[in-house]
Amino acid sequence: MKLTYICDRCGALIGALSLTEEELQQIGLDILTVDLHEDIIRSAETGDLFIYSLCDHCAESAPLHEAEWPYRGNPGVH
Ligand SMILES: [Zn+2]
Repeated sequence: MKLTYICDRCGALIGALSLTEEELQQIGLDILTVDLHEDIIRSAETGDLFIYSLCDHCAESAPLHEAEWPYRGNPGVH
């Protein structure tokens, strides 16, 4: 099972982990106990999990204004 961390703002690949089923179950239990995490985790058809988080750059630039942040893919600067 592969876990891939992707930045929810800029789409950058933050990191990836390969876990055994036992390790995944341990993490999965933790994930399910935290409501906020449910909508940032999506499983692909392959069974891989994608965890949407923030890369260091985005976390530093606007840590508390996610709702105001433009949809990712916006050209932004010229
Ligand atoms: Zn980012």
